[in-house]
Amino acid sequence: MSVLINFKICDNAEECSGIDVCPTGALYWDKDKQTVNIDNSKCITCGACENACEVGAIRVAKTKEEHKKIKKEIDEDPRKANDLLIDRYGAQPIEPAFQIKYGFEQEILRSNKLTVVELFSDDSVHCLLRSIPIKELFKNLDLKYKKIEITEDLRKCYKIKKLPSLLFFKNGKLIGKIEGYYESKEKLKEKIDKIIFKT
Ligand code: SF4
Repeated sequence: MSVLINFKICDNAEECSGIDVCPTGALYWDKDKQTVNIDNSKCITCGACENACEVGAIRVAKTKEEHKKIKKEIDEDPRKANDLLIDRYGAQPIEPAFQIKYGFEQEILRSNKLTVVELFSDDSVHCLLRSIPIKELFKNLDLKYKKIEITEDLRKCYKIKKLPSLLFFKNGKLIGKIEGYYESKEKLKEKIDKIIFKT
């Protein structure tokens, strides 16, 4: 009957996986409006786009009742695009959302925001398999999160002995550091809270 898009968690990109799989062109990239759009008159409610969307932003309603229910769920959804990025990219080194684009100095040291930097190495098994569960750890905090492959300069500058490491910056100053992999998320969260809330 209709397709609804939850733009609160949709990254609204031309490369939408739902557009790729839509057999009728009902779901399309609207160049003029620069947005994913839906022409419900072309939709055959096959559900392919819903299955293809990794974050559940595309929903297919087959009846009026379903449409109403889904619309209500979307209207009441408290999530934001940031949550989506963390969901999607948090476990993998190193996806675009967490890359440093303009340099460490500009994005970390000159930032006024509480910033967490995860240093990792492709050579460390723990870094590859045991990434920091950032969505759970940071869901109630307003912070910036970046992930950087460690360099010798960073290793020396911040005296890093174990990876992965988390560096915490506030107003450009290092306010805390956690080194090494933590088996328990709870213990890691405790450590993080100590650093963040003591400041
Ligand atoms: S339900 Fe099927 S036809 Fe409708 S927009 Fe999604 S993929 Fe296209």
